[in-house]
Amino acid sequence: MQTQPTASHFVDGEYIEDTAGEKIEVIYPATGEVIATVYAATEAVIDRALDSAVRAQAEWAKISPRERGRVLTRASQIMRERNRELSELETMDTGKPLQETLVADATSGADALEYFGGIAAGLTGEHIPLGEDWAYTIREPLGVCAGIGAWNYPTQIACWKAGPALACGNAMVFKPSETTPLCTLKVAEILVEAGLPAGLFNVVQGMGPVGAALTTDPRVAKVSLTGSAPTGRKVYSSAAEHMKHVTMELGGKSPMLVFDDADLDDAVGGAIMGNFYSSGQICTNGTRVFVQKGLREAFVDRMAERMKDAVIGDPLDEGTNFGPMVSATQIGIVERYLEIAEKEGARRVVGGERLDRPGYWLTPALFDGVTDDMTMAREEIFGPVLSVLEFETEEEGIARANATEFGLAAGVFTKDISRAHRVIGQLRAGTCFINSYNDAPVEMPFGGVKMSGVGRENAKAAIEHYSQVKSVYVRMGRMEAPF
Ligand code: NAD
Repeated sequence: MQTQPTASHFVDGEYIEDTAGEKIEVIYPATGEVIATVYAATEAVIDRALDSAVRAQAEWAKISPRERGRVLTRASQIMRERNRELSELETMDTGKPLQETLVADATSGADALEYFGGIAAGLTGEHIPLGEDWAYTIREPLGVCAGIGAWNYPTQIACWKAGPALACGNAMVFKPSETTPLCTLKVAEILVEAGLPAGLFNVVQGMGPVGAALTTDPRVAKVSLTGSAPTGRKVYSSAAEHMKHVTMELGGKSPMLVFDDADLDDAVGGAIMGNFYSSGQICTNGTRVFVQKGLREAFVDRMAERMKDAVIGDPLDEGTNFGPMVSATQIGIVERYLEIAEKEGARRVVGGERLDRPGYWLTPALFDGVTDDMTMAREEIFGPVLSVLEFETEEEGIARANATEFGLAAGVFTKDISRAHRVIGQLRAGTCFINSYNDAPVEMPFGGVKMSGVGRENAKAAIEHYSQVKSVYVRMGRMEAPF
């Protein structure tokens, strides 16, 4: 397939190139081969993108929300029609197996565009009676929003941000991760094909400094970042200089509590989804699997058994269910964590081996005997590494699950429905699962607490983060004043 894009950036409705920017080689993680080359945005490119966004947004805000919604709905239809092509590109960009990308990436992106297209017409203010007087609110866009993406779900991340931003009447300048710059360009192409006026969704490539330039520019009213907590801290503080709105979708170290009455296979299945899907490169992953004492041995045995069914191979083969890691950098980070884990006394049951072939291949790893103080139980690894920790009582399990600076997600596996809700009520996390893991439908708000982030994506909750209300008071009688 054609992986080299027409040009690096998509600005004001067209592809543009500026080879003065730093060269970025795009690597197919399964083979290590260079599949495309793009250039980081220069100041001139960033300037053009922001200027076109400012101009286009002023017009877009005047269009009826119904019209705006129609464009998003059309874009979602085109994405669904082109799902295979988009999924193959996602696989080339990220290395994730086609078996996953066919159902989880462009599909999820299309869901977001469809959802926000559908609710656009209903985004209204309120009428508030005040006795004889009355008041109303007008829901207004913020202006130009900057989107900055991580590399694990490039299509989905772009659509989760563009959908609510555009539905509310904003424009967006989006900077994909430098590791996966290809997919977002397709999203921009499709939006224009669906009738989105030029300048409303721009893509500029580059590393951190390009994101930083967007974050500090006074033309930007809001910054929505999906990335790590350290980057979040930097972006949040520089956005504060200009009092910009922010959405921060950051990292996690989420717990999964498996009680001894849980269905063993469901719990093992949940832990596989929550640790090995996308080769473990998912922010919400339940990487601390707390298993109640009576079930721990059986859980570890069954997990090791099920892990033999991982089909590791060509990600473009639909039979493959476990692909490579995204990059040399990421596999290096994970290998370092594996070394530390063994040094600190965790027991490697299976996996964590580098495969002797080109590309970034690491087999899924299962560790037992992990304790709360170990590095692997405290820091986000962002790779296929599952840690099993043992707990005895419900109270202890909850306290240890919450003993982290993060709060993105949490899961509970039990057949006791009262306990399930009681425990979930006490877990400090933005997204929780009962007898399930890693669901992320667009109808549900998505986001974290504590160091995992600020704000929510998806569902109606996202509207609050891409719009603001203007309050208007109307006096029906005479204006009273003290003198
Ligand atoms: P990262 O923080 O290294 O980079 C994220 C993005 O920020 C990239 O586009 C990068 O170029 C940009 N960036 C870096 N420095 C910047 C700066 N100073 N100013 C502005 N932009 C800057 O993260 P990553 O390695 O690409 O992605 C993995 C991380 O993302 C993990 O921590 C993961 O948990 C998190 N993540 C979170 C969610 C979520 O929704 N909560 C989803 C996916 C990934």
